[in-house]
Amino acid sequence: MITSRNPATDAELARYNPQSAQEVDGILEAAATAQAAWRRSPVVERTPLLRDMARVLREGRDTYAALITAEMGKPITEARAEIDKCALTCEYYSENAPAQLADRPVASQATESAVVYDPLGVVLAVMPWNYPFWQFFRFAAPALAAGNGALLKHANNVPQCALAVEEVVRKAGAPEGLCRTLLVEVDQVSGIIADPRVAAVTLTGSTEVGAIVAAQAAAVLKKQVLELGGSDPYVVLADADIPLAAATAVKARYVNAGQSCVNAKRFIVENAVADAFVAAFTEAAAALRVGDPTDPDTAIGPMARANLRATLHDQVERTVAAGAVLKAGGQLPAGPGCYYPPTVLDHVRPGMAAFDEETFGPLAAITRAADADEAITLANRTEYGLGAALWTSDLDRARRLARVLDAGAVFVNGMVASDPRLPFGGIKRSGYGRELGTEGIREFVNTKTVWIG
Ligand code: NAP
Repeated sequence: MITSRNPATDAELARYNPQSAQEVDGILEAAATAQAAWRRSPVVERTPLLRDMARVLREGRDTYAALITAEMGKPITEARAEIDKCALTCEYYSENAPAQLADRPVASQATESAVVYDPLGVVLAVMPWNYPFWQFFRFAAPALAAGNGALLKHANNVPQCALAVEEVVRKAGAPEGLCRTLLVEVDQVSGIIADPRVAAVTLTGSTEVGAIVAAQAAAVLKKQVLELGGSDPYVVLADADIPLAAATAVKARYVNAGQSCVNAKRFIVENAVADAFVAAFTEAAAALRVGDPTDPDTAIGPMARANLRATLHDQVERTVAAGAVLKAGGQLPAGPGCYYPPTVLDHVRPGMAAFDEETFGPLAAITRAADADEAITLANRTEYGLGAALWTSDLDRARRLARVLDAGAVFVNGMVASDPRLPFGGIKRSGYGRELGTEGIREFVNTKTVWIG
């Protein structure tokens, strides 16, 4: 059974029977048929669909945002911003896909030779609950523009959002069957990956599940893009603007109640400025308003599920037991809902849970470094490699250090955030492949050589 539950109240909102094998077969068949026709239209005839998806998203903004808030607890102002970003990304690809997918003539001994970008087919997207609209549109906008079909297996705690994103694409006028939501359990996924009507897989989720799905796709030699976990460092050097670095750090850690893959998770601060940074950070974190996510003044809503909160609290307790200093939060609140207070741990070291493991919730781990060299060494001392932030007033040094940070993106004097114009993705156990930008739209294409003698 697939159940939608409000994490602010624990109330059940809806439940769905998983689709049967026969229903899944029908969806796959319709998607394959629709994609075979869709790929034949030139890219300039496909991109108006994206423009209309943006329009439907903007028209339904309040309804869709309310659904996100109800199903996974995101504060309503952040949920509305999520819808806006989805619309922006659809518009970005609507405008840019024709140039990004344009034929590229290459001189050779042929009379004519060129590289062209053809679609791969129907792509299965296995997606998480933390940005239930964004994760889907980030993938689907470029995939559809490139001529692919899209099937979504969403996290099972956001089935209403899963059905709503399908509705957006349908209302925008997509050909029947081209983009569908599958309401299925995880044990149905391997059969869908193996099905010949599915050409490729993209997964955003945990590293553990990424490895399982990647192995299933590899067994049938299907292309994968994996956007997995992260333990992003936020490095603050002694010459940084400390008040600004601390204020931005609070946003970077606690947005979406800390449940984002690119939240800053480990704050690595040079000793000389550590006390000032910890004081400013702790004061601002403790002042964040926790509460009802439907209230526009709420900064932190509940976590999305009770088991996620239990995991986070266990990480806090193990890190404190190992010698870290609790500066704020750290107590399980009484009452309904999956709330957890903004929590700050100081003097966190490698070997402690909050340093070694991904922490997916409102928990900041602060580590002190003797100097810039040690700060960079500590930043890279993780099995993940998604994003990294670096704060310094010396931009030449920043450019040098950006090149030695092991991450898919380095943001200097700012917080890591995705942008449709820039590629997004990780290295190491954060996965492989890229979404967004030109790199993103070229993931699910056949880069084909056409040679004419
Ligand atoms: P998860 O447990 O890995 O779930 C992600 C998706 O995989 C869900 O749809 C889930 O379905 C499905 N799934 C679970 N087990 C599966 C299996 N054996 N076979 C096929 N599919 C399976 O991740 P989560 O806890 O929902 O999300 C948090 C994680 O996602 C964090 O690690 C976070 O860092 C990562 N994340 C990464 C990015 C990025 O862009 N790099 C963005 C957001 C989140 P069910 O819900 O039905 O179990």
